[in-house]
Order: sequence, then C-alpha cells, then structure tokens
Amino acid sequence: MKLIDGKALAAKMQAELKTKVDELKAAGIVPGLVVILIGENPASQVYVRNKERQATAIGLNSSVVRLPETVSEVELLALIEEYNQDEKWHGILVQLPLPKHISEEKVLLAIDPQKDVDGFHPMNMGRLWAGNPLMIPSTPAGIMEMFREYKVDLAGKKAVVIGRSNIVGKPMAQLLMMADATVTIAHSRTKNLRELTKTADILVVAIGRDRMIKAEDVKEGAVVIDVGMNRDEAGKLHGDVDFEEVKEVASLITPVPGGVGPMTITMLMEQTVRAASRKLDESL
Ligand code: NDP
Repeated sequence: MKLIDGKALAAKMQAELKTKVDELKAAGIVPGLVVILIGENPASQVYVRNKERQATAIGLNSSVVRLPETVSEVELLALIEEYNQDEKWHGILVQLPLPKHISEEKVLLAIDPQKDVDGFHPMNMGRLWAGNPLMIPSTPAGIMEMFREYKVDLAGKKAVVIGRSNIVGKPMAQLLMMADATVTIAHSRTKNLRELTKTADILVVAIGRDRMIKAEDVKEGAVVIDVGMNRDEAGKLHGDVDFEEVKEVASLITPVPGGVGPMTITMLMEQTVRAASRKLDESL
C-alpha cells in the first residue's frame, strides 16, 4: 500500500500558486476571492476561516463578508450582483448551507459563472457535463490532481463512485469519464453494493457514513479515494473507508484527515487564480 498524501500535494500546489499570484501581481492583476458567509453555522465558520487563511497565505486579495442569519434573499442577491460587477473580485463563493428562507437555487444562479469558483452554477455544471468545463467543483478537481500526481492511469479502468451529490459524486463521475475511465455511480438505492465495489479499479467514496467501506468491499490493488468526513463522539475525524483494514488491500489510498480535505481548499484557490489569469489574457 502507498499513501496518497493530500497534505503534501496541497502544500506543493500552494507554493506553485503563490508564484503564479506574484506573476499576476507583477502584470497588474491582484487575484481576488470574496466569500459570503451567512449565519453562525459552526462547520461553515471553520471552513471559511480555513479558506481565508489559505487565500492570504498565497497572496490573494481575500475578503469574508459575514451576514446575519436574518439577511433577506433580496439583499443577498443584490450583494452578489455588486460583486459580479466589481472587477476586483475574480472569485465569488457563497458558503452553503443557506438559511431556510433563502433559495439556494436562486443564489447559485445569481453568481456570474466566470466568478463561480465553487463550480455549482448550473451553467458550470452543464459545461462540465458537455465536456467543456470552466469552473469545476473543488473536491473532485482535487482528486483528479491526486491521480495526476500519483500517475494513476485512468483510461479503460473501471471506476466506481459511491455518492451522487452535485458537489462531489456527479462531477467526480464526469471527470473520471472525461479521463476515459468506465464509470458507475452508486447511491443509497444501489443493490448489491459490495459486488459492485469489488469490481472497481478506482473506488471513490463520498457517502458520509463513518468507516462503512471495509477490506472485503475492495478489490486487491484498487486505488481508493475517501471523501468522507465523519466526526465520532470524541471529535476524531474518520472517513467513509475503514482505513486500517482497506490499506492492506489497496495499492493507493487517501487517509482521513490529510487526504482529500486539504486539496479541496487549494483547488478553490487554483480556480480563483485561473479566473484572474483569464482576465489578464482577455486584457492582452
Ligand atoms: P450527500 O449527503 O449530499 O451525498 C451522500 C451520497 O451518499 C448520496 O448520493 C447518498 O445516496 C449516498 N449514500 C448514503 N448512504 C449510502 C449507503 N448506505 N450506501 C450507498 N450510498 C449511500 O453528501 P456529499 O456528497 O456532500 O458528501 C459526502 C461526504 O463527503 C460527507 O461525509 C461530507 O462530509 C464529505 N465531504 C468532504 C469534502 C472534503 O473536502 N473532504 C468536501 C465535500 C464533502 P442518495 O443520493 O440515494 O441519498
């Protein structure tokens, strides 16, 4: 078994991004990322803090706008429009989940697709499925970087993705298909899941069930990517894969923590820097 070290890869990519940011600054563009956070959701607070820290570390102009839980949908949409128009911001991200009185669909539609660094705008989701992506959701984008770094050949391989969410499962499946894997998407209604997972050369697990995937579910020599983040009662983080068991069977495996998680935020930064580079190209 070999470990896929997401933390090390994220650090390497951050250093490369910092160089790109310096180059953009020298050309007169300071890449800017604005994050809008509504309410007091503790998990969202942690995510946003981490995003802010990483954005600052690579030299982005970053701003976090904290709005009260009571903000109206109209006010939020107006604010997004302001940032859409402001050339200073190349990336706009609205941290999910939103309070119940605000429509997620309307908010995602309101963000300029060119600035939609999360890649959740229907236009970006559609472009990805059409094979012509602009902004790609960070978690699956980070996993593709891991495959590249560890030279995992995907062409012709059988890939199984467990989970069909818009933010992980679906875009992951499409990215794997674009890399010429033969992809199956599984979910809570899939029958005989184990029979399916045991056929996978590449197994991506994004379920949200603590250590559900065991050694007996995995084919010998498979590459196993664990997206899950589940906290036990003691506050310890576990994946959806039983790492201690599965590492004996897999050829490559991501740990939790230190696997997919660190790459997710780094890819968000990468999309912001890419959006700023596009602006520079347009201006040349
Ligand atoms: P969702 O809850 O949106 O989706 C979970 C998916 O798993 C659904 O498609 C669901 O099926 C499927 N599922 C649930 N139970 C089972 C089961 N018993 N067998 C097979 N499939 C099942 O979650 P997300 O995609 O948002 O996230 C998945 C996990 O990844 C979570 O633990 C989350 O915390 C983590 N995550 C980690 C990130 C990171 O950066 N490391 C980023 C994003 C998420 P159905 O559609 O039928 O309900």
